[in-house]
Amino acid sequence: MHHISDLKRFVRCNRLYFLSKDVHSEYKQYLRTDESLTDLIIKYLKIDNYYLGQRNDPGDRFFIEKDNYEWFVRPRFVDKELRINVPFVHKVGDEYDLYFIYSNTQLRELDSLSYTVAFNLLNKIGVVVNDINIIYLNGDYAFDEELDVDKLFICTNKYKNKKIVNIIKNDNFDYEDVIDKMNSLSIEDCMPCKNKYCKQNGICEYYLECFNEAEDLEDDSILSLVSSKYKNEMYDEGLIHLKDVDLNRIEGNRTQYAQIMASQNGGLFVDKLALKDWISKLNKRPISFIDFEWDRYLVPPYNKMKPMDVVCFEFALYILDEDGHLKHKTFVGTGDCREEFIKQLINNIPSSGPIVAYNALGAECLRLKELSSIFPTYADKLQALNERFIDLATPFVEGLIYDVRMNGNYTLKKLVDICSDYSYKNLDIYDGMEAVYNWRNVDKGESIDGDKIIDNLKQYCSLDAYGLFLVYKWLIEILISH
Ligand code: SF4
Repeated sequence: MHHISDLKRFVRCNRLYFLSKDVHSEYKQYLRTDESLTDLIIKYLKIDNYYLGQRNDPGDRFFIEKDNYEWFVRPRFVDKELRINVPFVHKVGDEYDLYFIYSNTQLRELDSLSYTVAFNLLNKIGVVVNDINIIYLNGDYAFDEELDVDKLFICTNKYKNKKIVNIIKNDNFDYEDVIDKMNSLSIEDCMPCKNKYCKQNGICEYYLECFNEAEDLEDDSILSLVSSKYKNEMYDEGLIHLKDVDLNRIEGNRTQYAQIMASQNGGLFVDKLALKDWISKLNKRPISFIDFEWDRYLVPPYNKMKPMDVVCFEFALYILDEDGHLKHKTFVGTGDCREEFIKQLINNIPSSGPIVAYNALGAECLRLKELSSIFPTYADKLQALNERFIDLATPFVEGLIYDVRMNGNYTLKKLVDICSDYSYKNLDIYDGMEAVYNWRNVDKGESIDGDKIIDNLKQYCSLDAYGLFLVYKWLIEILISH
């Protein structure tokens, strides 16, 4: 039996479908929702009496129950080895309206494949679809003492001023044909072939298996060239290194220039004057090196929060003083710890001197702006902190420096790896999403070893903050030795 996710994978890349078809990996939600979205939408739609689809429902269950109910929640429908669930189905006369859930505050795109398959399958088995609706989150709604589901959701049957059901009617996706192809697929039919999904939303989990690149490639491989449309084409033609690049086939931005120069110079490129000028912003002491962690909520749980807003639950801070000594501070909160986070931050961070973070504008600075608008009492102090931030990513993303060992990877973790013996691999929590999942367990009281997890969270966030100091020190050493 196939599921809609199998069809989606097959349409993206038949090899992806083939490799993952017997793999059951644990699904972890990026956006936090402590309350069941289905239960909230039941309240929003004011449904009292409904048939609730069960995990093992046979394909004919809907037909057995269809005269007993007006509303169906997650009913199962089956045709031709394909099993689908529709979130909500409403009987309107002899026909049915379908309701799908879109976990965002803006209807940016239609999940056309899901809607088309549902529309075609239901009509084929005699469930005539009248209308298609999408329920998504209202980005303007702010939590105020209690959740107001009437204001939390928006329901529409239109996308770009056209009725969704009419858009879907004109989509001629033939699921029966796709299932025939899926069933007759063999490994010979799906040899690795680079496509837009190999690196969309992060690298495909089978990338190494398909292309074996990271193991075989040299540091200055042309494939590490960033923002390059033609790097694969050049690589296939035998242009292996960054220094071999065809200058007529690069976009010519500063970052690419730094990469190519590093390859020509034996591995490192430094625009010494520009880097010296940039680093002069860090001449004053103390210097604060700081990293925040936060969780993002689909449904706001606390006052003044909107859908998709975040709760900052942790920071780690290293302070470098006049004498070259480092002081270390951390904070981890649980529950609605937003105000405590602000207080701890203001109390612990020095009242002057630069504050260094990585990708600061899109992360720490943005978080402080959000906190200012929710807690205006602290707005002036948070604004003053914001003005002191220096983004350590700038010299790298603006091409002032490039080390070929970066392999086109501009993350803080990669830089820490290059410039020190410290490694995230030795930590129990080793990346940002793992930190979030672990914190959620502690926050919900679902962890039996909360103290140990808090300790692990501090170690992870502290290595990010200490990593900023290590990279800063490395830049100074490079300037001195060049
Ligand atoms: S890496 Fe590319 S070719 Fe390989 S399975 Fe993933 S999407 Fe398909």
